[in-house]
Amino acid sequence: MHDGFSPRIALQQARRTAKPLDEHAWRAVIDAFTRDAFTDAQMAAWLMARVMHGISETEAVALTEAMLRSGETVTHEPTDMPIVDKHSTGGVGDATTLIVAPLLACVGVRVAKLSGGSLGHTGGTLDKLAAIPGMRTDLTLHAFRQQIATIGVALAAPTTELAPADRRLYALRDHVELVDDTALIAASIMSKKLAAGATHLVLDVKLGQASLLADDQLTRQLAQQCIAIGKAHGQQVTAILSDMNQPLGPAVGNALEVRAAVDVLAGHTHGRLGELSVVLATELLHSTGIEQQAANAAVRTALESGAALHRFAALVSAQGGDPRVIEDPTAVLGLTAPASVWKPAADGFVVAIDTRRLGTLARELAGAERDLTAGIAGEIAVGMGAGDVTLDLHTADPSRIESACTVLNDAVRIGDTAPATLPLVQEIIR
Ligand code: URA
Repeated sequence: MHDGFSPRIALQQARRTAKPLDEHAWRAVIDAFTRDAFTDAQMAAWLMARVMHGISETEAVALTEAMLRSGETVTHEPTDMPIVDKHSTGGVGDATTLIVAPLLACVGVRVAKLSGGSLGHTGGTLDKLAAIPGMRTDLTLHAFRQQIATIGVALAAPTTELAPADRRLYALRDHVELVDDTALIAASIMSKKLAAGATHLVLDVKLGQASLLADDQLTRQLAQQCIAIGKAHGQQVTAILSDMNQPLGPAVGNALEVRAAVDVLAGHTHGRLGELSVVLATELLHSTGIEQQAANAAVRTALESGAALHRFAALVSAQGGDPRVIEDPTAVLGLTAPASVWKPAADGFVVAIDTRRLGTLARELAGAERDLTAGIAGEIAVGMGAGDVTLDLHTADPSRIESACTVLNDAVRIGDTAPATLPLVQEIIR
């Protein structure tokens, strides 16, 4: 099957052929790359050439298929229940996975979720989970499957067996400035999602200042490409286009976000974090064939009854963590009093927030030792009265406070007139 592959011919074809290449061409290249018959330099040149011609949706499907074939896929225990998954393109103050995953496990579906760590200014579920004492996310694929079959949910780090070609391609793309091509992003995301074996996926695609792609049109294109790839592989994908011009929840920082998630799981669903969690869970359940209103009612009942909170404790416990985090998150997470507080210097209204900068500031407060209890806590949103904003700054090193306040003075713009509030969910694409 490997016979006949010529790197030279593949590269000539990539450069000279403007029309889409067929799935055999994509598969041959990824196969060759996987068995080191196509070098990193050749792969980078090949990808650059294809990006310059514009990668079509069918090519993105072929690339995803080839990346999937580079490794294993999870085969779940036989069940009548849909296996569901949730993915976000990356947010600030976004702890929805910690809420949506246990919540869905209470409403008749099983949740197979592989998560990533923090990337750039965005937070990562793995780092949030690491803030819970004892919590492990390095599950084997066997343990991942078993836990989903027994308690209905697992949150784990991707293993090296799943879509290994994506890992290598991602590093290469980073090296040659190809991280922002939407077809390559869609194939990268979807190869990992499909490898985890879910039948239904909800994608939280962020729009706005702190989103993955600066351009809203490209973001919509990314959502469409993910949906098309899912469909081609028999996975039902729903994309929620949600606002990322302001932090989603009332905390930015790992342990602080776990505490905020526990609060929503305890039934306090007012606020954007709770609201978006309900939308994501409802849409995912709806995509499995449950009528919209019934899906919403089931989701709300799971939150209000305490069922979702207790499933979160079961999840934490199954992965070695301290389940008392649901009773006293502040103590269990080791959160202490803030080192300082920040308030806007001027009167008026919050008219814009450099949310990217808030994301990186939370990291700076954690320092090189990556203190998981560090970060920023407090409500902040576009349209709020400046006098209503108080942000707690958590850090082990008080010398970081002065520069943090300077950053916040810059990042939070105050004006005289209240701007329109930003809609949380801008579009749902099914
Ligand atoms: N997330 C991914 O998994 N891949 C990308 O290319 C970008 C974001």
